[in-house]
Amino acid sequence: MNARLVFATSNEHKLSELEAILAPAWHGFTPGCVARMSDFSVPSPVEDGVTFEENSLIKARALARATGTAAIADDSGIAVDVLGGAPGVFSARWSGRHGDDEANLNLLLNQLSDVPDRHRGAAFVSAAVLVTPDGREFIQRGEVRGTLARSPRGQGGFGYDPIFIPDGYRVTIAQMSAEEKNAISHRGIAFGALMPRIVEYLRS
Ligand code: IMP
Repeated sequence: MNARLVFATSNEHKLSELEAILAPAWHGFTPGCVARMSDFSVPSPVEDGVTFEENSLIKARALARATGTAAIADDSGIAVDVLGGAPGVFSARWSGRHGDDEANLNLLLNQLSDVPDRHRGAAFVSAAVLVTPDGREFIQRGEVRGTLARSPRGQGGFGYDPIFIPDGYRVTIAQMSAEEKNAISHRGIAFGALMPRIVEYLRS
């Protein structure tokens, strides 16, 4: 394996979004440049941080240490205003079952069923990090604000995308193309800001 970066995720949606975000900014990029966590037999660390930044660092540090390869990670989620920023770092396991997107989304919709449109503000948040094998750490946060729809719409994306209408749009993120999502998304913003550090590391 000659990849110089490994991405600390087992989420295929995140991986393909990341490749589409990195490709235009990285001269000579090919999908094989970024290894997957599953290419190494490395157990997932316990994400016991209470902020996106902490969890992102936990994932990238563990992977960089175990593989000797620079690791990038994204910890992300949805922060709902009337819930005081929840589900937040618990977004992937809000219903109690880790990674059950449909159950997580339905629980959130039911919790908000009586909340009027003017109070349905929320943000998608991502903390993107790069941890190099010699222990340097770089972190960037991306956020996109929007409003939560009352029922799911659209087939694209993943997670809470079918109920998230970004500010300035009338459609949910799940109704956008992958390119449109990446251009405005929390992950696109965070990795866009981290990109100069990634390129600098790859050139070193
Ligand atoms: P993580 O993999 O621990 O960072 O968990 C991220 C969780 O937040 C996912 O399982 C989704 O529920 C939610 N999430 C993060 N980013 C997105 C996105 O771009 N669209 C929809 N849901 C997202």
